Amino acid sequence: MQALHIGDAVVHRIEEWSGLFLPPRQLFAGYDEAAYASARPQVGDDYIDPDSTAIKACLQSFVIETGGRTILLDTGAGNDKERPGIPLFGKLKTPFLQRLAAAGFAPGRIDTVVCTHLHVDHVGWNTILADGEWVPTFPNAQYVFPAADAMYWDPRNRSRFSAKVGEAVNEGFFDDSVRPILQRGLARLVDAPLQLFEGVRLDPAGGHTPGSQTLTLESAGERAIFVGDVLHHPLQIYNPDWNSIFCEDAQSARDSRRRTLGRVADERAVMIPAHFAGRHVARVERAGGGFLAVGL
Ligand SMILES: [Zn+2]
Repeated sequence: MQALHIGDAVVHRIEEWSGLFLPPRQLFAGYDEAAYASARPQVGDDYIDPDSTAIKACLQSFVIETGGRTILLDTGAGNDKERPGIPLFGKLKTPFLQRLAAAGFAPGRIDTVVCTHLHVDHVGWNTILADGEWVPTFPNAQYVFPAADAMYWDPRNRSRFSAKVGEAVNEGFFDDSVRPILQRGLARLVDAPLQLFEGVRLDPAGGHTPGSQTLTLESAGERAIFVGDVLHHPLQIYNPDWNSIFCEDAQSARDSRRRTLGRVADERAVMIPAHFAGRHVARVERAGGGFLAVGL
């Protein structure tokens, strides 16, 4: 994806990792073989490996330039992190910051970091290791986190919540990638809906995590909706009731997915999910009681 222009705003995609993840039958709760067979030809080999049938996925961040702001949306898995619950994203040594710089963004240029939600693969580059300590990667940024997730995932609040779906897979992220930001007073904890800046709005999309939020970018009559992990894969456009196995609240996740897909369709927006491979963005149309993808 080249830089994407949304009105006068510019969106740059910065890739951290791409590869094969789980096959759909393992990734999606509610997976159904017949529904898969029906949707599979619409999705194509850019999104599913034809040999292994594993989904193709990315860890990627987006830099949004709008109204004089430079916003980094989601921060991937990060380097050097201990990740016993998901070794695929542990101890990484990717050139993410070099790629960010090559796109024109030294860390000091980022003035705002927004996490769509707090999960191990969305917060990693919030911090880097310096002299044995996790320190903010973007020293001039305000970090915008969903307040509900900051409450939910803090291990110090564990006794306040019942067992979490993502407890094991997300082990460690809060203390190395969120708490250092909170402790330095760089975080703004928010509750959506919220007009963050002119042309930048956060909307609630809870379910995958309690505080999951989408970011809507509007400029000069055009619109993009960054949907985070409201859906992980184009198969879920055709099967919006399929949750990932990482969704905390199944019914809320399904409701948020249908509501968000409906918004993307009705508002004629470009949908930019966190993990789509292929062309990384799509448009959505309503079809009967469901949805279909355009431009995969
Ligand atoms: Zn994710």
